[in-house]
Amino acid sequence: GSAPNKIRELFAYGLKRKAEIGEENVFDFSIGNPSVPAPDAVAESIAELIKEPPCALHGYTPSPGAAGPRQAVADNISRRFGIDATADQVYLTAGAAAGLAISIYAITNPGDEIMVIAPYFPEYAVWAETAGCTTIEVPAHEPDFQMDIDAIDAAFTPKTAGIIINSPNNPVGAVYTRESLEALAAMLREREEALGRPLYLISDEPYREITYGIEVPWVPSLYARTIVCYSYSKALSLPGERIGWVYVSDSADDGDAVAVAVAGAGRALGYVCAPVLLQRVAARCVGEPSDVAAYAENRAILTEGLSALGYEYVEPDGAFYLWVRALEEDAQAFSDRAKEYELLIVPSDSFGVGGWVRLSYCIARDTIERSMPAFKALKESYEAKLSS
Ligand code: PLP
Repeated sequence: GSAPNKIRELFAYGLKRKAEIGEENVFDFSIGNPSVPAPDAVAESIAELIKEPPCALHGYTPSPGAAGPRQAVADNISRRFGIDATADQVYLTAGAAAGLAISIYAITNPGDEIMVIAPYFPEYAVWAETAGCTTIEVPAHEPDFQMDIDAIDAAFTPKTAGIIINSPNNPVGAVYTRESLEALAAMLREREEALGRPLYLISDEPYREITYGIEVPWVPSLYARTIVCYSYSKALSLPGERIGWVYVSDSADDGDAVAVAVAGAGRALGYVCAPVLLQRVAARCVGEPSDVAAYAENRAILTEGLSALGYEYVEPDGAFYLWVRALEEDAQAFSDRAKEYELLIVPSDSFGVGGWVRLSYCIARDTIERSMPAFKALKESYEAKLSS
């Protein structure tokens, strides 16, 4: 409980600072709160649903969710990815966070190891630790931040239970190519054979729809022992409503057992009966397209602006984060210095690596435009230091 969450800390600092000097004077790139409003279909669904008899509407559903919404998710998966998904393979959750905690708990025993690709979403380590497991950080391949398959291969130990991947990626915006996913799948199958036991792949996909013209392959079609954790937080801009799902592929020999383990982990951790109104909303809105035009525009303004100022960054193919090289080795010191210019940017140490910062560009376009003089002044402050 006392372990810091740097993203939340910076976000909280931002709220305080905005109250002190005015919202328009703080350039808050800290948190991934979507700036695109939820589609109208969400409000319309809520307005219609709320007229239903309250006891039925607000009552408990079965632990994995109501049959209708689970079927709606399964149908959507089947349609989009050309497979035959069933409602039994879908466990509705309070966002991807609950889904990931459940999935890690389901596939591990205390003492196991879970691999993550660094930089990575920091809560993976928290959930792994809660399950009694150790997180093994495997650096991404630079400069493209795709997976480094050889490094993953080299990180296997007798205790490895599986790997978590996240594409489109937070914090770097990389989208893993089909080739790299196929290479990972082939390597996992080889390792399984050598170890004589199953290895699991957890695919964390809350940003699946937020891409800039790039394919996001359906991972269970490439590797059978995959658990997909999905969320409507980003695709439908509903992060505070807490709704998502876990999908367990049934093409592996132990698929049914894993689905049972997921349900058991949900029960053990208390993640049962996801918010019920939102189960129904998700069922109705499951096919709503995500509006990525505003993020695409923000991405262009931010990258063009920073590039003109001489900042180095990774061109993002998806999600709404920009991974920018810090102007000194100590990312925390760089983030602290940025604060002096009212720029709130998250140091990369939070994501398991040094030397970078993450900028969330799911914010008002105007804030990005007005932040450029602050980024200029921040850069000049380093140049002044060098020449003095
Ligand atoms: N995974 C990643 C990579 C995320 O960035 C987030 C949230 O920002 C989550 C999981 C958790 O999302 P949710 O709001 O669905 O719990």
